[in-house]
Amino acid sequence: MWWLKTNIERISKLRAEGSKESLTYAALECRLAIERVCYERLSLAHDYISHDDIRRWQPKDIVNILIQEVDSTIASSYTFSIGKEPISKEGDRTQEECEAIEYVQVGSQVGFDPKKMGELWHAVSSFLHVKVPKKKDDSVTEYGNPDALVKKIDEVLVELERLSEGTLIASGLGETVSFTCWCGTTNVRRASLLKDNQTINCVNQNCYERWKVEINGSEIGFVRKEINIACRSCSVKNPLPEKPLSELKRGQAGEFICSECGKTNFFMWRLYSAVKDDAQ
Ligand SMILES: [Zn+2]
Ligand SMILES: [Zn+2]
Repeated sequence: MWWLKTNIERISKLRAEGSKESLTYAALECRLAIERVCYERLSLAHDYISHDDIRRWQPKDIVNILIQEVDSTIASSYTFSIGKEPISKEGDRTQEECEAIEYVQVGSQVGFDPKKMGELWHAVSSFLHVKVPKKKDDSVTEYGNPDALVKKIDEVLVELERLSEGTLIASGLGETVSFTCWCGTTNVRRASLLKDNQTINCVNQNCYERWKVEINGSEIGFVRKEINIACRSCSVKNPLPEKPLSELKRGQAGEFICSECGKTNFFMWRLYSAVKDDAQ
């Protein structure tokens, strides 16, 4: 990640200045660099996951979700190479045959530990707030302890230097499975990381559809999550997407046009009460 060199230079310069102000600014630069490292992985993974499936925003959480749902090696170190010549033989190859192929190195991804990255992020972030006084004698000051901050900045710099040696980042390899959403968008997911009964959101940011994953042996299916509402005029059930309905606020009305009779129907969530009688 060559761009990290610029960040490292900026942070090192501020660290060398050494004033409380410049060290605090260096802490901010450290935090921004860590966020960029993690969010770049996310931006690459967006072919395989909807933003609505991310649910959290802290760098460590995002990377952990990507490891679980997009690519188990997204934060791992590895070198990616391809064969120099096109492969002529059809079918499976033995290990010896694979090893005999001449490879050209495409690049190396430098991995990181999301937990450690999260700890560094929290540590530098804590210097970007005024500490809340816990008792009367606690002094209220903008800047934290400079020695403690320098120690953390140095830890971040070591990690950024290491990461800057990476020449590629990838969203991984592995079998994928795809389906076309009702909005027409093709959704692609990493087959081995899908779980039975899992709910996924369509990758199209303007789409309301959610899909339930159904795994039966080697078969993977996607079932639209919907709620059926009977038309008040012709009683035909209309399947509506679950997500916008479940997000309707109290007192808020929605509407749909019946697919059978064309009448406009209105709906809203209602509060019901009931009494448990002795027989129940
Ligand atoms: Zn869609
Ligand atoms: Zn109708």
